Amino acid sequence: MPRPVTAALIARLTEQYPQLDLAERLMTARRVIGGRIVFTTSFGIEDQAITHVVFTAGLEIDVVTFDTGRLFPETLDVWGNTERHYGRQIRALCPDRDGTERFVERYGVRGFRTSLEARLACCALRKVRPLGRALAGAAAWITGLRADQSPERAQTTCAGFDLLHRIIKLNPLFDWTRDRVVAFVRGRGVPYNPMHDQGFLSIGCAPCTRAVAPGESERSGRWWWEQEEKTECGLHADPPTWRSRSALSRA
Ligand code: SF4
Repeated sequence: MPRPVTAALIARLTEQYPQLDLAERLMTARRVIGGRIVFTTSFGIEDQAITHVVFTAGLEIDVVTFDTGRLFPETLDVWGNTERHYGRQIRALCPDRDGTERFVERYGVRGFRTSLEARLACCALRKVRPLGRALAGAAAWITGLRADQSPERAQTTCAGFDLLHRIIKLNPLFDWTRDRVVAFVRGRGVPYNPMHDQGFLSIGCAPCTRAVAPGESERSGRWWWEQEEKTECGLHADPPTWRSRSALSRA
C-alpha cells in the first residue's frame, strides 16, 4: 500500500484533476511530486498529446519509449519527426539481448503467435522488463490511458498507486474521449501516426496490430487472434495477473 504521504498526494490530485486542462494536470503533477517523473510513450495519438505539453512547457519529465524491435516503420517515423519537431530526444529502452536470443531460440521468430504464454513472455521481454528499468528510482509514472478505450480500461482513474512498481501512476487523459485527443493533436500541429487515419486506432508492435472496422472497440486490433486477455500487454497489469507474473519469470 502507498505510504500516507503518497496516499494524500494521490487524493489531492484526484480532487484537482477533473477541473484542470491537460497542461495544468501535467504542471500540477510536476509541482507537487518530488523526484523523477517518467512518461512512457508508444507514439500513439494520446501519447503525442502528452509529449506536446511536456516538451512545449519544458517540464522536467523523462520521456521514454520501448524500442521493441517490432515497431511499424510509420511509428519510427513519428518518433524521428517528434524529436525533430520539438528539438528533444526521446530515450529508447531496448529488450535484453540474451533474453531476446533465448526467446527466439525457444519459441521461434513468430513464437508469440503460438500461445498466450509465448505472447506474454514476448511482451514481458520487450516491454514489461524495460518498463521496470525505466521506472527504477522514479517517483511517478505518466501514461496516456483513457477510460473509454476498452472495457479493461474502464476503471482508469486520474491518479493511483501502481502496486507492481510501487509508484504513483498518473493518467492525465483518463476522462478524455478519442475525438477530444484527435482535435487537440490536429489543432496544434502535433506530429502523429498517419495509420490512425487508416483504422489503426491503437498501434503497438507490427505483427500484433491490425486496423479495426468502424464500430469495433479501439483496442480490438491488438492480439486479435486471442480469445481472452487479448487487449493488454502486461504494462498496465496492477496487480499483475498470475499469467503476467509467470511470463516475466520465463522471459
Ligand atoms: Fe512481442 Fe507482439 Fe508483445 Fe510486441 S506486442 S512484445 S511483438 S507479443
